[in-house]
Amino acid sequence: MSEATQELDALLPELTAIRRDLHKHPELGFAEHRTGAIVRAWLERHGYAPRTAAKTGVIADLHRSGLAPTIALRADLDCLPMPETTDLPHRSVHDGCAHKCGHDGHTAILLGVSALLARRRNELGCNVRLLFQPAEEGVDGGGAKVMVAEGALEGVEEVYGLHNWPGFRSHRIHVRAGAMLAQTHWMSIRLFGVGGHASQPQLCRDVIVAGSHLVVALQTVVARGLGYEGGAVVSVGKFSAGTTDNVLPGSAELEGTVRTFAPDVTERVLSRIREVVGGVASTFGVRAELELAPGYPVVMNDPVCTAAVQRVGAAIVGAPQVSDVGLPIAGGEDFAYMAQATRGAFFFVGTGDESGGVPTCHHPDFDFDDTMIPIGIRMFLGLVDDHIARRASGRLA
Ligand SMILES: [Zn+2]
Ligand SMILES: [Zn+2]
Repeated sequence: MSEATQELDALLPELTAIRRDLHKHPELGFAEHRTGAIVRAWLERHGYAPRTAAKTGVIADLHRSGLAPTIALRADLDCLPMPETTDLPHRSVHDGCAHKCGHDGHTAILLGVSALLARRRNELGCNVRLLFQPAEEGVDGGGAKVMVAEGALEGVEEVYGLHNWPGFRSHRIHVRAGAMLAQTHWMSIRLFGVGGHASQPQLCRDVIVAGSHLVVALQTVVARGLGYEGGAVVSVGKFSAGTTDNVLPGSAELEGTVRTFAPDVTERVLSRIREVVGGVASTFGVRAELELAPGYPVVMNDPVCTAAVQRVGAAIVGAPQVSDVGLPIAGGEDFAYMAQATRGAFFFVGTGDESGGVPTCHHPDFDFDDTMIPIGIRMFLGLVDDHIARRASGRLA
């Protein structure tokens, strides 16, 4: 067994304990105070001088020299505002808050990376910036945006992020160049009609009938608007109207989400939504107010960084276990802002099994798979070494 493997194995019990402790004490976006304190204490113990960023995030630099290039590695810190349904010993003790996306695991992985890199600080051929980012789960526009605005990516040549994914088989690396995750749009539609007695609909302008037609018509935005070119999702997740059986309400409210992967498709989908909403409203004589607000942009993987992930993945888990199957994913990720600020790549590490029955991210039964911790650490360390090797051989571009 190599010395590096022994060092990593020796760290795992402590990292697993930290991961489970974070799981037990989850904190929402921009409120990761305890989590941040644990991260800072660990980093200080390993010789770093961590600093606060993006309100509750933490940045630590491993400086080789002012002239050396910097590679950045990112983990996310926050939990989701949702219940925990497991009976695990480390189940959440905070009602309505739970680590159901595995950010507890991502944090533990980057802590492991920090400890192992610190031991090589004098022989490392580049600077490394560790980004412990708050608020990935959509709070106030995302923590990555704030970190980038604060200059966290300035001087960074490449940035990498990872995510566990129970939808992919255990310890397989999924990555592709170009779009990895979707552009998200929040959609809100408010309908205003004329309410009245449900026995006299002829005197009303029924927003429930109009809204029902609208939900169905919105299903054609992708099916008819894009056809075989596909590549978008329009979902209505909320439809509220009315209070009782014999009253037609005067207004209704719908909310939904739009996912796209390319700017021209985004434009086509949004303009078709506007047409459909306007058309259905006028058909039924109601008034519609439509709002489409952009969320996270597409996570765009740089080809050079993607090739690095593929190379490192092949060395760690074997080339046949590295693929682009199942990508892109229609989820959103604020790593997108980091990959816009400099070149970068985001990749998934599978944590699922053959049955496909492992609870997925955001499922109330989800728990991070601790067996992914060493893979994640080796991937990040491998990417640092790959970067150094490319620099040394002049193959960086
Ligand atoms: Zn999530
Ligand atoms: Zn996540």
